[in-house]
Amino acid sequence: MASQQTSNLASWIESVIRNFIEKSSENTLQNKANDRAFDTPLVGFSRGDDPIYLQYKECVEAYHWTPLEIFSLAFPGHPAKAEDLTVISWVLPQMEATKADNRKETMFPAERWARGRIFGEIVNEKLRRHVVEALEAAGYKAVAPALSPQWARKDSERYTFSSTWSERHAAYASGLGTFGLCDGLITSRGKAHRAGSVVAAVKIPPTPRPYNDHHAYCLFFTQGICGKCIPRCPVGALSESGHDKLKCRQHILSTAAEYTKSHYGFDGYGCGLCQTNVPCESKIPTKKDV
Ligand code: SF4
Ligand code: SF4
Repeated sequence: MASQQTSNLASWIESVIRNFIEKSSENTLQNKANDRAFDTPLVGFSRGDDPIYLQYKECVEAYHWTPLEIFSLAFPGHPAKAEDLTVISWVLPQMEATKADNRKETMFPAERWARGRIFGEIVNEKLRRHVVEALEAAGYKAVAPALSPQWARKDSERYTFSSTWSERHAAYASGLGTFGLCDGLITSRGKAHRAGSVVAAVKIPPTPRPYNDHHAYCLFFTQGICGKCIPRCPVGALSESGHDKLKCRQHILSTAAEYTKSHYGFDGYGCGLCQTNVPCESKIPTKKDV
């Protein structure tokens, strides 16, 4: 009976997320054509006491929250145990039209891509709030870490900068994908997406992680081939040594932002060239894709 209830809960939460993306008018790029921002989401779950979240303190940064830490910050008057929490994680794949436009670009983001970065993230924020509200209406306390006033991006000696909660690491923990050479998360729908998550006081069986290495879906690490994302980067931020976050950020926030303003008429930024026109854009790649 208990497992029936938890599997019903998992299905219900998945439907809350999917229905928002499939049916809500909020899922828009806010362009003239009112194009959808995102395709059907992937949803995964991980346990609040999954040891991987403690490992992130070693391999990401000590300031990266465990699910219990962010839950306790959000609800200081409601002590909880890590094992009573679940991380609900989702991946929102970019639409085919958005990816097709960006595939053609070699220096700056296509308009749909830049809109996906700015207005798509607004959709993602609304989805986070929607999931929290749905859970609270059903009697479950929940918090979206990325919307917490305490969420911060911090300087990092090892990673240049990182944040107190990483949506991609939550997705990795929740069985949704593994990291590529460019740091993007390669999922069954590829790495052209945005991710989000909520930590809730619900018990849901975790989604199996069909991998035991954080680079398991990247052909560069598994087979020593591919590297197709490297030449896609217009500013040399990618190499066989990985992702130069400073070079990348400089391009995204300065030249790409200026281009977005002058050509598309809104304050935005983005790039995503290494997420499109590569073998892992829309799937887990195989040798045949290279
Ligand atoms: S393009 Fe190739 S090397 Fe780059 S992340 Fe994807 S699979 Fe890995
Ligand atoms: S997002 Fe753009 S600038 Fe950053 S690594 Fe990818 S291609 Fe290079």
